[in-house]
Amino acid sequence: MWRAGVLTIFPEMFPGPLGVSLAGKALAAGAWSLDVHDIRAFASDKHRTVDDTPAGGGPGMVMKADVLARAIDAVAQEGRPRLLMSPRGVPLTQVRVEALAAGPGVVIVCGRFEGVDERVIAARDLEEVSIGDYVLSGGEIAGMALIDACVRLLPGVMGATASSAEESFADGLLEYPQFTRPQAFEGRPIPDVLLSGDHARIAAWRRAEAERLTRERRPDLWAKHHSGLRGKSAGVESIASDNDDGLRPCPRRGVPD
Ligand code: SAM
Repeated sequence: MWRAGVLTIFPEMFPGPLGVSLAGKALAAGAWSLDVHDIRAFASDKHRTVDDTPAGGGPGMVMKADVLARAIDAVAQEGRPRLLMSPRGVPLTQVRVEALAAGPGVVIVCGRFEGVDERVIAARDLEEVSIGDYVLSGGEIAGMALIDACVRLLPGVMGATASSAEESFADGLLEYPQFTRPQAFEGRPIPDVLLSGDHARIAAWRRAEAERLTRERRPDLWAKHHSGLRGKSAGVESIASDNDDGLRPCPRRGVPD
């Protein structure tokens, strides 16, 4: 079973959003497990102190290396990578998420305050992972985002008919636009091609739209895709094959809420 271990000073934040919808159903069904560890339980003083002032001065507080190291050592790692959520980490990508989902799970350290004493990062070989170029107040929401992205890829979680093969980033491209009933919304019709029943034309339209959106919105992704750096083969196939009017909600989005 894929296992997520989380070290945090706010264990009450979990499972939070991971306890509802797709991830929550999968958790209840035993497709993955979540163990949450309160870092404060590893403090050595009666105030359960986990932070101290930064060496060299400056604002804020820093998470103590000794307390965090004890907390990390208490968690059975079982081959799981130790990740520290951090705005200065390697940006999380779908490729990395796929690799993590294919492994035994993750152990996630959630930072708070100004961050974590550098020495524990080195001593416990923590891999710093960022979820974007902005600063959150803590690593918990970042950790939840990473776990959610992994859990939905676990076998069976999105359902037998579901597939992530056409989602954003699957082929290094953003996803094409989606539509559903009604056929006209505030004067805006669904593009005719999607109602044509011609699966080859639909696939071609979707591919062209995915390329257009990626070119317009993410020149960085487009450049990589175009130069073939990502090296992943395309997986375009019709998802409307059992969909006579072209308007049935697509099941690949997974377990309905
Ligand atoms: N002083 C730090 C800096 O400038 O890089 C920011 C610390 S932030 C207020 C507190 C914690 O939130 C971090 O230690 C990290 O665990 C988490 N965090 C904030 N932004 C994040 C991001 N973009 N990705 C992952 N974790 C983040």
